[in-house]
Amino acid sequence: MTSILVVEDDDGIRTGLQRGLRERGFAVATAAAGLPGLELVLREPPEVVLLDLGLPDVDGLTLISMIRAASRVPIIVITAQDDDPTMVRALDGGADDYVVKPFGTEQVAARVRAVLRRGGREVVPATPLRVGRLVVDERARTASLDGAPLDLSRKEFDLLALLASRAGEVVTKRELLAEVWQQAYGGSDRTVDVHLSWLRRKLGESAAEPRYLLSVRGVGVRLVAPEPGPETGPDADPDADPDAGPAPGSP
Ligand code: CA
Repeated sequence: MTSILVVEDDDGIRTGLQRGLRERGFAVATAAAGLPGLELVLREPPEVVLLDLGLPDVDGLTLISMIRAASRVPIIVITAQDDDPTMVRALDGGADDYVVKPFGTEQVAARVRAVLRRGGREVVPATPLRVGRLVVDERARTASLDGAPLDLSRKEFDLLALLASRAGEVVTKRELLAEVWQQAYGGSDRTVDVHLSWLRRKLGESAAEPRYLLSVRGVGVRLVAPEPGPETGPDADPDADPDAGPAPGSP
């Protein structure tokens, strides 16, 4: 079980993260201030640290360098403001990624999985993910649609696997850049757009007529199982609607 240390002085955020991450199968320890957090890093080394920058006892940026002096544990910074200079300093100072408040637990869990992947510690689902008739097997790094294998590039596969792991949820382009391209800061939406269009082509759809990959304008993209069409579904019952059309052989 992956162990996470949450260093956050806000009681609501700390306990909310603890509960939400435990529900997702992580072991979670917490500290309400920086120095107790540092002590835990040294005494019971976690696999990932979630670190609030605004702490009562020690500045978060200082704490990052204190942790880095002793440990290479991945650090994900939690911050209240999407403040570029602060984020650059945090990342330059040794943080691996960041999330901006308010955030959902699933987003944080995805960031945790991403930093672990980057560290070479794969957290891969044991069974293939299924979204409609799309199957994504992260262990084998293969994907198929309607039983036919998809020939995907490395990035296309990473993109599809991430979207499948969060099927039904809107994933922002920023998150895709951070997790698929490891560009936690900076990077261009255009990179994401281009790969999405390639992926769409391989899924046999287009932005104008999407089935699996739905764009959410100005936000990101969502992978969904398409509604089966009335005439194409394998389970379609020709007798279900007698008014739908003339029966074969009728006058
Ligand atoms: Ca705080």
